[in-house]
Amino acid sequence: MKNKSVIAEADDVRRAIEMVSLGARMQMLEAETQLSRERLLRIYKEVRGVSPPKGMLPFSTDWFMAWQPNVHGSLFMGFHRYFAGRSGLSPLDTVLKAYHLYLDHIDAASLEPVLSITRAWTLVRFFDADMLQLAPCGSCDGRYVAHAYDPVHDYTCGLCNMPSRAGKGRGRGKVSPNARAVRERVASMD
Ligand SMILES: [Zn+2]
Repeated sequence: MKNKSVIAEADDVRRAIEMVSLGARMQMLEAETQLSRERLLRIYKEVRGVSPPKGMLPFSTDWFMAWQPNVHGSLFMGFHRYFAGRSGLSPLDTVLKAYHLYLDHIDAASLEPVLSITRAWTLVRFFDADMLQLAPCGSCDGRYVAHAYDPVHDYTCGLCNMPSRAGKGRGRGKVSPNARAVRERVASMD
């Protein structure tokens, strides 16, 4: 344990509990708090009743390109951009707030969340590292997660491109009316 005030430590514990409750993996907890690994493991076990899964996160930017993860990631990034631009929140609190809002919207649309908190956090890190960008879709006006090196002109999002892409990737088949509602939410976010 590093030298730090009791209040800062309590703050870390509170954030760790919130992250674990949302399903965060150990890598995220270790990166976002000053708490020791042992401490984090104890918090994890206490909150979830099991040990955290072992192993590194296999996440790559490509995961966010399949249509379903792309729409969910884009929705989350819209919220993230909103909070990042409007308040004095810490980077972590910005992610947590945006993620709560994402869950609320997914729940309101009766959808299953596709983006885990750790994936959402990773997504923001990809943006910070300039590996990803938000590209405006020429058809629906939404802003979608795209590779940083993708040309932004003539960009068409995966949903507007549906007919040829349906069923590809790891989606669950066709776009449901609910998924369409999420897409409309993304499109109206600017
Ligand atoms: Zn579109």
